[in-house]
Order: sequence, then structure tokens, then C-alpha cells
Amino acid sequence: MEFEAVIGLEVHAQLLTRSKIFCGCPTAFGAPPNTQVCPVCLGMPGTLPVLNRQAVAFALKMALATGCRINPESVFARKNYFYPDLPKGYQISQYELPLAEHGQVDITVDGRTRRIGITRIHLEEDAGKLIHGEARPVSFVDFNRTGVPLIEIVSEPDLRTPEEAAEYLKVLRNILLYLEICDGNMEEGSLRCDANISLRPVGTSALGARTELKNMNSFRFVRQALDYEIRRQRTWLEDGREIVQETRLWDAAKGQTFSMRGKEEAHDYRYFPDPDLLPVRVSDLNKVHILEVQDMVHDHVVDELSITQKHNLEIQDARHDQAIASLWQEMPELPKARRERFHKEYNLPEYDADVLTSDKALADYFEATLEEFPQPKVVSNWIMGEVMRELKREEAGVAALKVAPRDLGRLLALVEQGAISGKIAKTVFEEMAATGGDPESIIREKNLAQISDTGALETQAQEILAAHPKEAADYRAGKTKVMGFFVGQLMRRTKGQANPQLANDIFRRLLEE
Ligand code: ADP
Ligand code: MG
Ligand code: ZN
Repeated sequence: MEFEAVIGLEVHAQLLTRSKIFCGCPTAFGAPPNTQVCPVCLGMPGTLPVLNRQAVAFALKMALATGCRINPESVFARKNYFYPDLPKGYQISQYELPLAEHGQVDITVDGRTRRIGITRIHLEEDAGKLIHGEARPVSFVDFNRTGVPLIEIVSEPDLRTPEEAAEYLKVLRNILLYLEICDGNMEEGSLRCDANISLRPVGTSALGARTELKNMNSFRFVRQALDYEIRRQRTWLEDGREIVQETRLWDAAKGQTFSMRGKEEAHDYRYFPDPDLLPVRVSDLNKVHILEVQDMVHDHVVDELSITQKHNLEIQDARHDQAIASLWQEMPELPKARRERFHKEYNLPEYDADVLTSDKALADYFEATLEEFPQPKVVSNWIMGEVMRELKREEAGVAALKVAPRDLGRLLALVEQGAISGKIAKTVFEEMAATGGDPESIIREKNLAQISDTGALETQAQEILAAHPKEAADYRAGKTKVMGFFVGQLMRRTKGQANPQLANDIFRRLLEE
């Protein structure tokens, strides 16, 4: 029997707010354990959460960017479970009424574009981090991360291959980076992904029993874990066994997934609305400081007293629409719009526009280079060639590149002016990437400037002709193709520095004299 994979992802993104979602503690990564905590995020009895408005605003941006419908009112719920990294014994999340629902993003794999549904986006708080001591049977817990705001983005089970899953994750990450609401760092865990996967016979539509995979902190691991799980489930099904719904951990060192625990059901969590937090009304975002809970209670009370219920609802609706409209105005350009603009404004092929905009930093780099050297296609070729080769070799992001866009622009201008050849420019670029030096100094220090001195080249050209009388005779007999050979010889002698046009002219003159 032929099986197809059905995959749905739950993606958690840490929001780049300065403070935590329900208290004023800082969110900075890497501080000594338990130095960014307070009674609220430590879950001390008698403390109360106060919602961080910026977290809501960030989450709303992601919702708009992914075409979600934003609920006029959403509700925080307690997800109850016991684990040492969760001081309150419950996580504040959203359950029945999430912030936003019914979105979608398009992904393209192997030239095929597919639309992937987004079920919901909701806000929640992060848990702490357990640190397992190696020497002793002791574990530590760091609560700095407790209460850092997260959005969870849940996809429909629309993905069909590990490649699609990885691409979907890339597309989400890129949007988060464009919105500047998450740093997208998978290794540090600011972007995390759980993958749900099941198999079903090709041609059927019912969903099979699934497993949930965790602990994949790179795109490659997401692909590998899903590949492994597809093979495992297929073997299992072919043996006539049933897939047990469970949570499995990816072990990168072994290249396998291992059963961690039976999969809990939603009802196990005893979700219920958190009585400590008011519903989030998007229409109130600009009007009140959500952080000032008292004010908000006051506004609600006034609203309810002064107008009839129906009128109230209409006003809520209108305010909701208004709030969404003003949110749209704060939205930056998104990947899709930027791709289209690159195509139109810079007249770039769609392929170039796609590659450049699929990484915000790369697109920024491209536009910064254009400011110095306004020839889009030349810059694009260089970025997709030399720059991306360098990034790949170093396995680094654009941020780590030592060549500033201005310097790349100046390098290209030097080629344009004939100061160096395109070939030499690549050598100069390599040096720039290695040392961070500027093109002019490198060309001067390494003596790489193009030789445009007729006298210097002519002496060498004469030597070449003297050494190759047969080819010279051929040329004079009409075989003008040997010109390429002569120019090549001169290039070799000058290590590529001879001005090729000048070399041509000199040989032609000498041969036709
Ligand atoms: P949970 O309670 O684990 O959060 P959900 O129903 O919210 O479960 O689904 C979580 C994710 O699992 C979603 O991305 C969804 O698309 C995906 N999913 C649900 N059922 C299946 C299935 N049978 N096979 C693959 N993915 C699934
Ligand atoms: Mg889940
Ligand atoms: Zn705190």
C-alpha cells in the first residue's frame, strides 16, 4: 500500500518585547539563572498578572501578516499541568477564544506553490528551563524564561512532505523577521517547532493516528526527524500494527525519534478561563493601557452602563475594525510585497526577487548596496553568486558578513570604471570577506589594479608574438580567432590584470602593422 504523510506544525515564537508578558521583568537572553524574576513570574500566591500591551500588538501583526481573522475579544485560559519548570502549576495560554484564526501562507517547493492553512495564533507565556546536572542525579531550574511572551502558530494538517514542513517554517520565520517581532533564533530556542505527523493510504482523506515530534532546533533536524518518522510509521503500519498517539523526542546524535510520553489530550489540561485576566479587546488597544487593569475595568463598566447591549456591540464592531485598520498602517512591508516590488521597481527576474527577499537581511543588504551602486541586476548577480557562496561557506547569516554593502557597491563601481576586471573583483571580494578591508586598500596593497598602461602591455605583447610566430602567421593569414589565444597569454602573464580591451587593441595593431 502507498502511504502519504500528513503534517501539521505548532510553532512557538518568542516575542521581542523588553519585558515579560505579565510582569515587568526583562526578557534578555543569557543572564545568570534566576536573576530576571519577580513574585509574579515565580507564581507566588497573591500576585496578579498584568498584560503587556506590546506583546498583544506584536501578536496581532503576525496575525495580520498571515491573513488571520482577529477575534474582537479573546480570552486567556489556564492550562494546568505539573512540571518543575512551571511555578504556578499552570501556564497562561489561550484556548477556546484565541487572538486570531483562519489564516494562511503560501509555500513553494520544487516550483509548486501550495497554500497552508493556519488554524490559530494565540498568546501564551513561556515556561522556565530545566538544567540537568551531569555529575549528580540533580536538576536545576532557571526561571528567567518563565513568562516570556510567546505566540503559538498552529497550522492545519496541510503539509505533505518534510521539505514542505521545513519551507513552511522558513516562510513563518521570514515573516517574523520582517515584522521584527522575534529574532528567529532556532538554536537559542526563540523559535521552536513541534511537528505532528501521521500517515494515510494515498487517496483516502481520514486522518491517521499521529505522533508529535519535539526537540528539533534547526530546519535540517525538522526535515530529518520527519523523514525518520515517516519511515518508522510506514514500517509499523506495513507490519499491521497501530500507531500509538504519543510525543516523541528527536535525538540529533542518533538520528532517531524516541517515545517520550503518551500524548495528553486537551481535557487532561483542565483548561478554564483565567479569572485574573480580562478578555483582550483589540478595539481597546489604543484607547487604554492594558497594563493598567483598573482603567480597563473602569472603561468596560462605563461602556456597559451608558449604552444598550446592541448599541454596545455595534460600537465594539466599529472600534474593532478601526483598530485593525490602524494596525495595518503600522505594518512594515512583508516578504510578498517586497518580492513584487523588487520584480517591478528593479526589473529583476522573479527568481532573483524571490531569492533576495526570502531572507530579510539579504534583501536589506541588496538595497543598501544599490545605494552605492544603482545597477540592480549587477548587484543581484553578485549577491546571489559571491555573497551567498561566502555565507554558505561560513555557514553564517548576513549579519556576520564582513563586507559592508557600501564596500561591495564600491567594488562594483571599480569594475564598472575599468579599474579592475570582474575576475580580479572576485579575488578582492574574497579578501574583503576574510579581512573586512575596503576594496581600494586591498587593490593597492595587493597590487591588483588593472594594467591600462599601453607601454607596459605592449612590451609583453611583443614578447608573446615573438615566442609564437606560427600563431602570428595564422592571424595574418586570416585566422583572426587566434586573437583569443594572444590575449589569454597576456592575461596569464599579468595574472588577469591586463585591461582586456586594451590588450586586444595592442595585439591587433602589432599584427596588422
Ligand atoms: P494538540 O492538542 O496536540 O495541540 P491539535 O488538534 O491542536 O492538537 O493539533 C495540533 C497540530 O497537529 C496541528 O498543527 C494539526 O494540524 C496537527 N494535526 C492534528 N491531527 C493530525 C493528524 N492526524 N496528522 C497530522 N497532523 C495532525
Ligand atoms: Mg500540541
Ligand atoms: Zn517577573
